[in-house]
Amino acid sequence: MAHALQPLHTFALNNQCQNFVEITHLEQLKTQSFESPFCLLGEGSNTIFLNNYAGTVIKMATKGIKVNERESDYLIGIAAGENWHQLVSYLLDENIPGLENLALIPGTVGAAPVQNIGAYGVELAKFVESIEYFDIASKAIVSLNNTQCEFAYRDSIFKHALKNKAVITQVHLALPKKWQPILSYGPLQQITAITPQAVFEQVIHTRNSKLPNPYTLPNAGSFFKNPIITNERLSKLLKIFPELPHYEYGKNHHKVAAGWLIDKAGLKGYRVAGIEVHQEQALVLVNHGESEGDDLIAMIKHIQQTVFSRYSIMLEHEVRLFDQTSEYHINTESVQ
Ligand SMILES: Cc1cc2nc3c(=O)[nH]c(=O)nc-3n(C[C@H](O)[C@H](O)[C@H](O)COP(=O)(O)OP(=O)(O)OC[C@H]3O[C@@H](n4cnc5c(N)ncnc54)[C@H](O)[C@@H]3O)c2cc1C
Repeated sequence: MAHALQPLHTFALNNQCQNFVEITHLEQLKTQSFESPFCLLGEGSNTIFLNNYAGTVIKMATKGIKVNERESDYLIGIAAGENWHQLVSYLLDENIPGLENLALIPGTVGAAPVQNIGAYGVELAKFVESIEYFDIASKAIVSLNNTQCEFAYRDSIFKHALKNKAVITQVHLALPKKWQPILSYGPLQQITAITPQAVFEQVIHTRNSKLPNPYTLPNAGSFFKNPIITNERLSKLLKIFPELPHYEYGKNHHKVAAGWLIDKAGLKGYRVAGIEVHQEQALVLVNHGESEGDDLIAMIKHIQQTVFSRYSIMLEHEVRLFDQTSEYHINTESVQ
C-alpha cells in the first residue's frame, strides 16, 4: 500500500513509497524481508526521494540510552532510533560533555556513523568505541571497533562494503571525563566563560542564525561536500581567488569551502521550480514546494557545471538521493 514520503524526509518532495515499516524492536529485523529494493531511513535529513519509491522504506525507531561509568570515561550505548540532538542535550544535563560541538545536527543516532557527522571541528569518529549492526545476510548482530568502521570525512564503511548489508542497531560512544573544549572554529572563539553548556549554546545560536530550519523551510542541510584538494592545487587557486576559505586536511591536502565556491559563482538565489540556492547560505538548497525530483537534478547539475567551469572543481553531493529503486549519484560522468 502506498505511503507518503513527504513527512519522512526533510527536503519533503511529494512522493510515495510502496511499503513502509517502522522498526521499534530489534526482533522485527529478523522477520523483515530485505528483498530488494529497500531503503533504510532515520529521520530523513540526509536523504531525498526523487520519485515514487517502488520498494520498502525501513525506518529505524528503536529507543534506549545506557550510561556506563568507567575509570576515565563514560561509555554510552544508544539505540539507533534515538534523536541525535536530544542525546547531546541529555548527556550535558547528566554532566557528560564532549558532544556539544555536534549540537542541533538533525537526525538519528543510527545514521550518525554512516556519514561520520561533523561540525565545528569535531567528527563523531573521535568518540566511537564500537558500532553494532544487524547483518542482513546472516541475521546476526555484529560489532565493529572504531578502526573497522573506516571513518573518513563524511564517510564510513557503511557507505561502501556494508552498504545495503547492515542495519546499524546500537552506537557505543566513549566520552572522556576530562573535558577538552574544541574552539578552533570562529564563532566558538567569542565565548568568554568556557563551559560545555556555553559551547552548546553558542553552537545552537550560530547554527540557528546560519541554517534554515528544515521543519519550517524544507532542506537537507549542506548539500555538497567540501572538496578536498592537494596543497599544490590550492596554491594555484589562491593566486586567482585569494579569499578562498581553506582548512588543512592531513599533510598534503586542504578542504575548501563548497558554500563559498557556489556563492562566488553567483548562484545564491538561483531557482529551478520551487528549489532555490538559499539566499543566506549557498551550500543549502531549500524547497519552497511545487518541485519534483527532475527539478532537483537540474539544479544539482547546474551548480556542478557552473562551479566546475569557474574553478575546475567537481562538487560531490553529500545528500543521499534515491530514485524509483536505488541510490542515485549525480557525478562527473553525468555532467556534460
Ligand atoms: C539543517 C541540516 C543541518 C545539517 N547539519 C549537518 C552537520 O552539521 N554535519 C553533518 O555531518 N550533517 C549535517 N546534516 C545532515 C544530517 O543531519 C546527518 O547526515 C544525519 O546523520 C542524518 O540522520 P537521519 O536520521 O536524518 O538520516 P537519514 O537521512 O534518514 O539517513 C541517512 C543515510 O543513512 C542511512 N541510514 C539511516 N539509518 C541507518 C541505520 N540505522 N543503519 C544503516 N544505515 C542507516 C540511510 O539509508 C541513508 O543513506 C544536516 C542536515 C540538515 C537538514
